[in-house]
Amino acid sequence: MNRTFIFLLILGIVWVLGRKYLIALRQKKNQSVSATQPIEMMVQCAFCGVYLLKQEAITVDQKVFCCEAHQQASREQQ
Ligand SMILES: [Zn+2]
Repeated sequence: MNRTFIFLLILGIVWVLGRKYLIALRQKKNQSVSATQPIEMMVQCAFCGVYLLKQEAITVDQKVFCCEAHQQASREQQ
């Protein structure tokens, strides 16, 4: 009876630690995914060809520009 109790106790500890490990592993995975996302969100200026972050870019008529000056310059060319 005492051995059964110890066995169940060890089983419980292993189960709890295993769950904690899996949760930590999953959180780490999610963090690495969100950390790499900004790198993937790079866009190229339609005028000068420079690469910049999508949130810093100006999008007009499905064209992406690095600054307002290049957006206007591109419009004047047309
Ligand atoms: Zn530009």
